[in-house]
Amino acid sequence: MKSSILLDGKAISEKIRNRIAETLAKAKSEGKGVPTLATILVGDNPASETYVNMKVKACEKVGMGSRYVRMKEETTTEELLAEIRKLNADASVNGILLQHPVPHQIDERLCFDEIALEKDVDGVTTISFGKLSMNSEAYFPCTPYGMVLLLQEYGIEVSGKHAVVVGRSPILGKPMAIMLTNLNATVTLCHSKTKNLPELVKQADIVVGAVGKPEFIKADWIKEGAVVLDAGYNVGNVGDIEISKVKDKASYYTPVPGGVGPMTISVLLLQTMYSFLNQFSPKLDSHASNR
Ligand code: NAP
Repeated sequence: MKSSILLDGKAISEKIRNRIAETLAKAKSEGKGVPTLATILVGDNPASETYVNMKVKACEKVGMGSRYVRMKEETTTEELLAEIRKLNADASVNGILLQHPVPHQIDERLCFDEIALEKDVDGVTTISFGKLSMNSEAYFPCTPYGMVLLLQEYGIEVSGKHAVVVGRSPILGKPMAIMLTNLNATVTLCHSKTKNLPELVKQADIVVGAVGKPEFIKADWIKEGAVVLDAGYNVGNVGDIEISKVKDKASYYTPVPGGVGPMTISVLLLQTMYSFLNQFSPKLDSHASNR
């Protein structure tokens, strides 16, 4: 049996980030300044705090500025909207990331949709989603686009394949299903009401785990030779798929950690860089034209 190939998100990310650092150093030497990513964290969710710190550090490492806006747990929707409007109006800010999830009293969708389209480097607005659905230029949700970049980087053919995506959240499963459709896969999008999930997963040439439940997708559901992408990240450093057991049967698989996670941050940096560079060549609407 052929052994499976690890989709090395860490190594690919390093390549992407080196490229970003080089481009930004050049832009700086030309007197263009540096991009700034503004990150808003509402409340004191320790996991969110860790993610935000990782993003801030990643910005620094590639020579990007970051603005960290911390808001208290009791923040209201109106207060958060006002903060987003301020960042929208600030010409020195190129990208805005509102860390998900926000405390329950906040209308998260309303706040996401307040982010100016040209600063929506996390691809969370309804308009960006609509543009993606129409296969037109937009910034993409970072995690699914990170997975697509991995497929492309390893030359994995998507066209004509049957992809089964498990999970339909607006930032992950649903846009991933659309991206794979745009790449000419035949896509089955599964969720908590799906019947016969194991049977559906068994038909997949490409499986995407985006459920948020540790090792929920079992190794014996996976077809021999399938490409396995695990977006999940759960307590104990495990994904949503039984990856350790999948290694023997998949053609390609993402490890957890070191697979999809680093790619998510790299896409965020990449899209912030494009937003910054677009100021100087406004014809380039987004990186979609570089695909
Ligand atoms: P989410 O918003 O909680 O969505 C989970 C999805 O899974 C929902 O669509 C839900 O279906 C579906 N689901 C739940 N139970 C199911 C079941 N028994 N059978 C089939 N589907 C089921 O989660 P998310 O934000 O998309 O995140 C998913 C995972 O990705 C988590 O592990 C998260 O930590 C990880 N993540 C990783 C990154 C990264 O950078 N690596 C970024 C974001 C998220 P319904 O729609 O029917 O409720």
